[in-house]
Amino acid sequence: MTATMPADLIRPQIRALSAYPVPSSQGLVKLDAMENPYEWPASLQTAWAERLSTVAMNRYPDPQGTRLALALRRVMQVPESARVMLGNGSDELIQILLMAVASPGRVIMAPEPGFVMYRMIALWLGLEFVGVPLNEDFSLDRPAMERALDTHQPAVLFLAYPNNPTGNRWSRRDVEALLDRAPGLVVLDEAYGPFADDSFLPDVGRFERLLVMRTVSKLGLAGLRLGYLCGPPSWMDELEKVRLPYNVNVLTQVAAEFALDHHEVLDQQAAAIRRDREPLSQALEGMPGVTPFPSEANFILFRVPQGKGRQVFEGIRDRGVLIKDLSGQGGLLADCLRVTVGTPEENQHFLKALEGSLASAT
Ligand code: PMP
Repeated sequence: MTATMPADLIRPQIRALSAYPVPSSQGLVKLDAMENPYEWPASLQTAWAERLSTVAMNRYPDPQGTRLALALRRVMQVPESARVMLGNGSDELIQILLMAVASPGRVIMAPEPGFVMYRMIALWLGLEFVGVPLNEDFSLDRPAMERALDTHQPAVLFLAYPNNPTGNRWSRRDVEALLDRAPGLVVLDEAYGPFADDSFLPDVGRFERLLVMRTVSKLGLAGLRLGYLCGPPSWMDELEKVRLPYNVNVLTQVAAEFALDHHEVLDQQAAAIRRDREPLSQALEGMPGVTPFPSEANFILFRVPQGKGRQVFEGIRDRGVLIKDLSGQGGLLADCLRVTVGTPEENQHFLKALEGSLASAT
């Protein structure tokens, strides 16, 4: 009998992929992953640890995360008529959504450049992914989106609001037009909602096929891995059937509930990040050859002189700061790098590193 090799069993579409890359940030100022840079006040950290010490680790968690879902409803003002599903990060909620609709030939759609997991998870599940290019200024190309909806009839349209990696938010009128036109589910991914001026959460129930997905990751709890999906019961009841039992562990449930009871800490931190985004953007604007793009998120995308993306990124890293290099993707992201808004000190460190890197880029 011949030995079975990966090539015999693993689908060609999977073999052609690369695993999601997470570079090492050891010893570097970490401004690559849209994390909140702030810690909690020491007194609350102690109370938090004490609360966690009471958790029964020998028992499975509450399968629905009932108390946590109630806390999220209250703090995030989820409309009464919406149902809430918790996920192990919103990544898992994307996976749940796509598992529920997966069948051969089905299409998943999103504007591009966009969040990579929509495409990745679609491919894992044997679905087809159609990315619709944004305009040069990263606004939605509404006629192109409408044509693509009519042609491909996607089962799910993802609209990140604001968008990653561009940082901008679509016009509400464009989104509402697409909500009326789309034949399938429309998921407004509000991962960066805490830093934006608008949300579709109050509109859940007003549009029949609108779901709103959120996460606590960018808000300051990335380590907990907790996302939540809000939608009408008719859709949520079906999605519930493909959720793994106990998908949100007991430590996450208890820790997140504690954090939400003290959400004013998270709110203040988000306000500081929003406040510091403006001077960071202005400083980028003032650098020769650098163009920052408008952001309603906790990061800023910026373009560096032509052909210098990788070199400038590496120069910044050599000076002790890790950001994200998107320049290799080309197209609309040619020469583009993305920096997360950090503490004022981290932002200064980054700006100095960028200045030095630009000066030495040949
Ligand atoms: N949606 C968008 C638009 C994102 O940028 C990210 C994280 N980069 C996520 C979802 C996933 O967030 P998490 O799994 O941490 O909840």
